[in-house]
Amino acid sequence: MAHWNEIAAEFRREAIPCELGEKLSLHTSFRIGGPARLFCEPQNKRQLTAALAICRRHKVRFYLLGNGTNILFADEGFDGAIVHIGAAMGGIFRQGRTLTADAGASLSRVCVVAANEGLSGLEFAFGIPGCVGGAVYMNAGAYGGEIKDVLSSVTFLDETGAEQTLPAKELALGYRTSAFEHRPWCILSASFFLREDNSNSIRMRMADYGRRRTEKQPLDMPSAGSTFKRPQGAYAGALIEQCGLRGCAIGGAQISEKHCGFIVNTGNATCADVLSLAETVCKIVTEQTGFALEKEIRVVR
Ligand SMILES: Cc1cc2nc3c(=O)[nH]c(=O)nc-3n(C[C@H](O)[C@H](O)[C@H](O)COP(=O)(O)OP(=O)(O)OC[C@H]3O[C@@H](n4cnc5c(N)ncnc54)[C@H](O)[C@@H]3O)c2cc1C
Repeated sequence: MAHWNEIAAEFRREAIPCELGEKLSLHTSFRIGGPARLFCEPQNKRQLTAALAICRRHKVRFYLLGNGTNILFADEGFDGAIVHIGAAMGGIFRQGRTLTADAGASLSRVCVVAANEGLSGLEFAFGIPGCVGGAVYMNAGAYGGEIKDVLSSVTFLDETGAEQTLPAKELALGYRTSAFEHRPWCILSASFFLREDNSNSIRMRMADYGRRRTEKQPLDMPSAGSTFKRPQGAYAGALIEQCGLRGCAIGGAQISEKHCGFIVNTGNATCADVLSLAETVCKIVTEQTGFALEKEIRVVR
């Protein structure tokens, strides 16, 4: 049995900011999730390494959290430590045509820096609300582009706490998946190999993608983005709409009126509401169209 007060004391001895019982709804774009036993925010690589070592020594579960924009935490919360890698670990550096960003850097900020530097290739990612660690883990993508197209290498802490760098081609990047899904590795930074282009042209493409998002997506409501992956040969949102499920709700969870691919939180949704709605939608879509939907959002219990 973990003694969370003792573990928190160890974090504080390392000067790692941490809280006991922090509500996870405060740290996810869905605004859903009960308390974590411990929530910590390492401010640098030394603290991050120490945080993971403490968790391993005490044999407690830990979960790496980026910007929390693809996660559905349980209403009961998380029986372990949440390690939040945020803006404090968000440096961005250029070397030639390579832009290297720390895991906590916001993806949109990386896009803006790339544009200012006259480096093209990341425009598709502008407006994806995650940070670099989460984007690499998920191989985030939009408008025909994905992280895999521009990623050259990733530096991470492996299961022993040792730092490693691997080229992108060794990271099993696929549609919304990567090697990080199957290994307890903590991404420290990612390097993107980009093309030189005129800054204004890059900014215009980013603005166009931004406009398309605002027009199509329910950005004014809490969600975790597309609830389901795109099944081969179809779009999840179109299938859900075709089944007449637009606006369909269970508790506070609703199929967005604006974009059927999103489940939104209308104010008081629970994790149970979202899961129950997602299951109902999957069942109806399979019965009526023959397509099987798979969740894109990560459900963490
Ligand atoms: C309105 C909206 C629009 C969206 N649009 C898109 C879109 O167009 N395309 C798209 O692909 N996604 C989209 N998303 C989903 C989400 O933004 C992306 O998946 C994003 O890449 C997740 O990043 P994050 O930092 O929020 O990760 P989180 O949600 O915090 O985490 C996602 C996963 O990454 C892991 N992780 C996070 N950081 C690290 C790290 N440092 N090391 C190892 N693992 C880590 C977590 O453990 C978790 O399993 C959207 C979401 C919203 C709310």
